[in-house]
Amino acid sequence: MNNPPIPSHKMQAHIAYAIGTQAEAANELDKAKQAYMFALRSDPTYTQAIARLGHLRFVEPAQPILGGLRKETPDVPGIITVQVRNPCNFRCFYCAAKGHNNEPVERFDLDAMKAQLDKIKIFYDSINVPFIVCDLECGGGEPTVHPQFKALMELLSNYGAVSFPSNNSQDPKRWLPQERTQRLLVISCLHPEAEANIDRYLKNARYLLDQGCWFQGQFIAHPARIDKIAHYKKLFSDAGIPLAMTNFLGEYNNKQYPHAYTKEEIKKIGFSASDNWWFQQISPYANRIRNFRGIPCLAGNRNIYLYKDGSISRCLYDAKRLDTPNAKPEPCRISHCGCDLFLEKLNRIDTVDYYKYHHPIAQGKQAVSPKQRCGWPEELCYPIADEQKAMYDELMKAYGKDQFEEK
Ligand code: SF4
Ligand code: SF4
Repeated sequence: MNNPPIPSHKMQAHIAYAIGTQAEAANELDKAKQAYMFALRSDPTYTQAIARLGHLRFVEPAQPILGGLRKETPDVPGIITVQVRNPCNFRCFYCAAKGHNNEPVERFDLDAMKAQLDKIKIFYDSINVPFIVCDLECGGGEPTVHPQFKALMELLSNYGAVSFPSNNSQDPKRWLPQERTQRLLVISCLHPEAEANIDRYLKNARYLLDQGCWFQGQFIAHPARIDKIAHYKKLFSDAGIPLAMTNFLGEYNNKQYPHAYTKEEIKKIGFSASDNWWFQQISPYANRIRNFRGIPCLAGNRNIYLYKDGSISRCLYDAKRLDTPNAKPEPCRISHCGCDLFLEKLNRIDTVDYYKYHHPIAQGKQAVSPKQRCGWPEELCYPIADEQKAMYDELMKAYGKDQFEEK
């Protein structure tokens, strides 16, 4: 059977791209840039042309604060993002996963996952990863209701820290493994249904802390809930349970949050520096463009996505299975990234805050207070966010994200 003809705009782009690579080999860099730009005018989805153009145009912005802080940590940790699929037992009115929080249970092939985890560990050792963090990607479900959750915890905690979100509604005696509890980090939002049963929430949190787990309570500062914040801050503080404030991201009463918070609301929420770390601050900012096609990304290299059958891919959005992890960061191939930030030059895992927060957990050390975990002095939080925003802007500019629009 004959292959379908290549559309002429794609053909033009291929020819221009070939001219660009030849010019680059001859060190004629302006000519190479012109050729890549021509290729992208013909086909804005041409990943290799975006990658080459961005590589030639990227000018590293100065990051004096982050650069200095990065010297404090030996190397970038390795992440294993584990897909977990099951329903959620809550129905929060502001749920960002609405429509996806009732997925049926998908069972794990724990033997196949173990075999893959052993291979990833060998790979991470070979690239000097200082420690591993397994992050559960729960897709809108409540992971602790999964029938194999305890066995999953027992498996993953062999490799390093295990971090997951939970609504903290299930009795932890049912799912908490007996060993390596100090490697578990439970990040638990106090949702409206948990407010209605606050004694159960506090009891479960206390139990987890007493068993040596790391527990971080969170409160989503939805505008309709702001007046309750002072009450819960006191309640949690009296119970010795950490509680951090989180921006509400979304629409309410025709206003877009977090931008729509008034000064009075911000004061009532009382964000502290550790609530408002750089990643929180730049997340809404870095939503302007989420097409990272062509930009080198750590996904597949320092962040590997693990499925229930033991197979791996770069990330949730690029599900093409990999035989082995990528030896180095590779250009993203996807037109919309819904993951956290994992770009080689802008990610949430190569900064000192990530390292300091997760290192003791991966080592199985005793939990300490959030203040002791803060990666840097409070006064640096805003300048660091500014340095990261400048990096985002430079990446979008160099890789032509405002210049060549995909249809
Ligand atoms: S607990 Fe989380 S996933 Fe479940 S409904 Fe509430 S916000 Fe959604
Ligand atoms: S994490 Fe985002 S930027 Fe990285 S490969 Fe996946 S979709 Fe692309």
